[in-house]
Amino acid sequence: MEHTPLVFKYAEIREAGGHREELSLEPALYADAFEPQVKLKKLDLEMDFSVGGDSILLEGRVRGELEMECSRCGEPLTRVFEDSFDEVYPDTVEYIDTREAVRETAALLAPLKVLCSDNCKGRCLVCGIDRNKATCSCRTDKASPFEALRDLKVEKPGKPRKKKL
Ligand SMILES: [Zn+2]
Ligand SMILES: [Zn+2]
Repeated sequence: MEHTPLVFKYAEIREAGGHREELSLEPALYADAFEPQVKLKKLDLEMDFSVGGDSILLEGRVRGELEMECSRCGEPLTRVFEDSFDEVYPDTVEYIDTREAVRETAALLAPLKVLCSDNCKGRCLVCGIDRNKATCSCRTDKASPFEALRDLKVEKPGKPRKKKL
């Protein structure tokens, strides 16, 4: 068994009657768990092992500092996200290997969407200007819902719809 701070000897924790561990993990080792646009800056872990009758319960908490892009305007932002996990290890194991549980929990920290602010105005769809920082005079009226309706009416039945770009 390779040496890693995330693998424990079952017997040692049982003899000690439990164990608590707090550590910071090397973010680079978890970078591949995230989408390329998500940067992991910091990853902290808390683990509490409680000894039961014929098993050991692990309650873990993962806290990650992530640099992401605002889903509306694309500006970088840094936020801390955390989540917890529980694992039960039966008496039959020699080692308690928490690596997978930690990695899986860390990977799910990043939300699909994040906003720099609830009021983020996003970018102009025409010129791409960041509307939080500047204004433009592009026409932003959206006629598309009505256009789509008109297309629907002239469409012949049974003909596959072509996606308009
Ligand atoms: Zn934004
Ligand atoms: Zn514009």
